[in-house]
Amino acid sequence: MKKKILLFIFLVITVGGIIFTAFTAYRFSTITELAIKHSADTVRDIYLYSKDKNEALDLIKNMPNIKDIRISDKNLCKEKKKNVICENLNNKEVLQIEFKSLAEFENEKYQVILETVIINILFILFSNLLLNWLITPYLNIFEEFGQSLKKAKHGDFSKKISTKLNNQVKYIIESYNQFISQIDKNFKLIEDNLKVLIPNASVSGDRIVDVEKNMQVLGDINRFKKIIEEDSNTAEIYNRIIDILENKFKLENFKIYAVLNEKQKIETIYQKGENCCEIHLPKMCRAYRTASEVNSFKFPHICQENFCEGCNYICIPFSTGGTFTGIVNINFSKEEWKTHKNEIAYVESYLNEAASIVEAKYTLNLMKENSLTDQMTGLYNRRYLEEILDKIAASTIREKSLLGILMVDVDYFKKVNDTYGHDAGDAVLKELAKTMVNSVRESDFVVRFGGEEFIIILQNIKDEEGIVKVAEKIRETFANTQITVNGKTLTKTISVGVSIFPKHTTKIWEAIKYADLALYEAKNTGRNKVIKFSQKLLEASNYEGDK
Ligand code: GH3
Ligand code: MG
Ligand code: MG
Repeated sequence: MKKKILLFIFLVITVGGIIFTAFTAYRFSTITELAIKHSADTVRDIYLYSKDKNEALDLIKNMPNIKDIRISDKNLCKEKKKNVICENLNNKEVLQIEFKSLAEFENEKYQVILETVIINILFILFSNLLLNWLITPYLNIFEEFGQSLKKAKHGDFSKKISTKLNNQVKYIIESYNQFISQIDKNFKLIEDNLKVLIPNASVSGDRIVDVEKNMQVLGDINRFKKIIEEDSNTAEIYNRIIDILENKFKLENFKIYAVLNEKQKIETIYQKGENCCEIHLPKMCRAYRTASEVNSFKFPHICQENFCEGCNYICIPFSTGGTFTGIVNINFSKEEWKTHKNEIAYVESYLNEAASIVEAKYTLNLMKENSLTDQMTGLYNRRYLEEILDKIAASTIREKSLLGILMVDVDYFKKVNDTYGHDAGDAVLKELAKTMVNSVRESDFVVRFGGEEFIIILQNIKDEEGIVKVAEKIRETFANTQITVNGKTLTKTISVGVSIFPKHTTKIWEAIKYADLALYEAKNTGRNKVIKFSQKLLEASNYEGDK
């Protein structure tokens, strides 16, 4: 660019100079004719103003440059030669002047032309040098500006402009350099922050394109985070993750696992398409164990644990190191990998954002579960019963169904503690819990009501005889269960009181009390038996009703 401009200026000055020289030379080339004409005029004036014409002619003839002069007829005088001039004297006569030689004039002419050409050439050279000297620093600046802006367009702000000029331009250049330094600094800051949020984001070589893309992804991730924060449970969050993986990243074959770290329980949340890796135990999963991405494209056959042979895979764990870890296993063909390679970092960022929220929901659920269940037996606790009992009662009435209420108490339980120790007592309670859970349906509730007292709520009862049958089955099964504690085997029995809601009372908590009355009766009449509530029991008791 700079060379082109200089060449252009050089050509303009040179061509202009040559044209000017040629024009001047042409003008000087006519100088001989003009000089002769001028001399002829002078000769004529001498002749005309002389008193003695003949003497004047003689005088003129002797003039150095005059060869001949005579009076001639106007029609006969022809300016055939360059050195012959006919000057009019009157209507008929002319003064025919023949000059000796034009050489003198010619020499003079060529000398003037030569001098003009030399001066012009010198002027051309000097102008070019002067302009070159004046313009070059500015052209250098333009050139550097061009290079700097070209780089800045792609996010490279490293090219500063230098100059030896010490005027207003220097101030502009310094301001420009400061400006791009500041932009560079800000860009680095943005990039560093983005690196924290999207650690493995791909780099295209154009910082502006990269930052723009990453900022956009970050905006999307932020919106995604806000939405899942407001989701009420983990299932909703998983659905959003699935939606993102399927529709945003267009993944065809993937599987999502959820691991509850403390329980080492792994659950498949979702599967789409083919899946070549099957994880059965969390610790068998390399991604879970190392808490980092496992990528068979970067290291073939990396995962030895799950024998994911014959396919290419990427396993991405997402966790905050708490109670939950998610694992996304994606299977790619080589072609798919080429198109998805640069997106994996974004998938990871989405998952990492989701991790803390899924974790929080899990923890919340776990806490809720813990507060509503009994740690030792795994059964629901009294608080849970209090939370759900009114709802169950309302739906039972709505559906015109029955609830069977079983109040269960271990017979002479204190003896177990006293004879075999507290651990043995605990073992008995755990065994009884197992027996009860195995004897009822999934929809029924087994609740640890107090120390060794339990309530079972049997739902959707159509045949009330069935209630006592279930109670009998539990009693019998437990009585026949051998419980081994500290190398010793023991058996225990239970007593069960039964009431039916809303048959015996439409007040649900009163129905619980009635079951308790029946249990009391079972205890009083020999234990190891099932007693169903009856009005007789109520009358015999001093219970005055549910206030
Ligand atoms: P009964 O046949 O009349 O029911 O006699 P019992 O010995 O079972 O009498 P009671 O119901 O009063 O006994 C309750 C005992 O259960 C008292 C308490 O020490 C014991 N217990 C309560 N909770 C637990 C527990 O979690 N573990 C153990 N080992 N014992 C418990
Ligand atoms: Mg007891
Ligand atoms: Mg008791």
